[in-house]
Amino acid sequence: MNIAIVGSGPSAFYTTQSLLREDQDIKIDIFEKLPAPFGLVRYGVAPDHQKTKNIIRLFSKYLDEENVAYFGNVNIGKDVSIELISQLYDAVIISSGASLDKELILEGDNYKNLFGSAEFVGWYNGNPLHSKLNPNFRTKNAVIIGNGNVALDCARILSKSKEELYQSDIMDYALDTLSTSAIENIYIIGRRTPKEAKFTISELREMGELKTFEPKVNYNKEDLEKILNSGELDTKVKKNIEVLLSFKSNQKKYKKKIIFKFLSSPYKIVSKNDQTHILLKKSVVKNNNIVVTNEVENIEAGIVISAIGYKVCPIDGLELDPTKNFFANKNGHIKNNIYTNGWASGASVGVIGTNKIGASLLTKKVLNEVKSKKPYASEKIKEFLKQKLIKFITKDDWKKLDKIEIDLAKENFTRAKLADLKTIFKYL
Ligand code: NAP
Repeated sequence: MNIAIVGSGPSAFYTTQSLLREDQDIKIDIFEKLPAPFGLVRYGVAPDHQKTKNIIRLFSKYLDEENVAYFGNVNIGKDVSIELISQLYDAVIISSGASLDKELILEGDNYKNLFGSAEFVGWYNGNPLHSKLNPNFRTKNAVIIGNGNVALDCARILSKSKEELYQSDIMDYALDTLSTSAIENIYIIGRRTPKEAKFTISELREMGELKTFEPKVNYNKEDLEKILNSGELDTKVKKNIEVLLSFKSNQKKYKKKIIFKFLSSPYKIVSKNDQTHILLKKSVVKNNNIVVTNEVENIEAGIVISAIGYKVCPIDGLELDPTKNFFANKNGHIKNNIYTNGWASGASVGVIGTNKIGASLLTKKVLNEVKSKKPYASEKIKEFLKQKLIKFITKDDWKKLDKIEIDLAKENFTRAKLADLKTIFKYL
């Protein structure tokens, strides 16, 4: 069997793993629009979470398999149409993740220093699509919208000193720009209560381990205790509340603060005389719904990052679900011989390992439903790309680049990612 996987992040590699476990003879071609593989692990996982990035070792093992080929820098839907790839392969699996920001709708959002987390995280992680972002940190207050782990990742990167980022693979240009930072207050804004926050415990705890910033919780201690004692509480929630309470009691008196603000819904951004303010309306949660009141608060915000979740990057020829956040599909089936899994197929929630189950389920479905045995398509695709003058990256190219990145790393850092296409092709 001859399968094309679109995307090269966790979902794509767990699918490769599952397919090869089911059938050693399957031929898999992985297509990635960026030059380097590993998607979210390389460009989403925070650079100071190197242990999480270790999963790349397992993924590389599958990339090394003889019957797995890699086509980096090939954009399916643009360079190669969905129709063509669907014709050439027995099955096509869209595992391209969710690489775009969900839009934060604010009145008056024509403000320059406002970034979505996909862009901002992509910037400090060397994603070629975001490496030219140019955020400005010469401001006292930063505001991060959202109460998920990505909001915490962004806050951590904004607050860590260069030394605290040792042993990471943060981009050199990001370190340089961060060293100009005048940020003293990082607001993390949630529209619900601490009980509904999506943080996970170890990521939240890290906020209390920073060397120059300390967490401050704008929520009444008694109300936090009330949540804690409110009966059947999910263990994860309970632990989060305990950590927030510990932040309130272990005050370090650092000048710089990470301020958790809850029950605040951002609705407007106003720029006047070189000053920008984000306006928040106090909210209440009733029957799990957010009810916004008319009580307004105003925070002067030199930089705003919206970390409110992700949506797919559309592919020509594939329809989106009505939410427009992922590809329309029925239990992973899109149409004809085209399937999808991971964040491309549903909500962008869950950790890297979550994709393993989805990959295994989809593999079984595809192998059950697809009976065709088309001739291997790799050579045809190579020929097609050469004719269209599309320079693609092979797995041998990637091996070379991988070594170069490690060799180029500065002292105390693990890797210097190549984020510029021209530079990448110069090395090959
Ligand atoms: P997330 O966990 O879904 O959090 C998104 C946050 O944005 C929620 O608090 C949500 O609030 C809020 N939000 C959505 N729309 C909003 C709006 N219009 N205005 C204000 N707030 C809004 O998403 P994420 O942080 O992007 O993370 C994605 C997934 O990756 C998660 O499953 C996360 O755990 C995972 N992840 C894990 C790690 C790790 O394990 N270290 C690191 C990063 C990410 P509501 O609840 O009110 O909708």
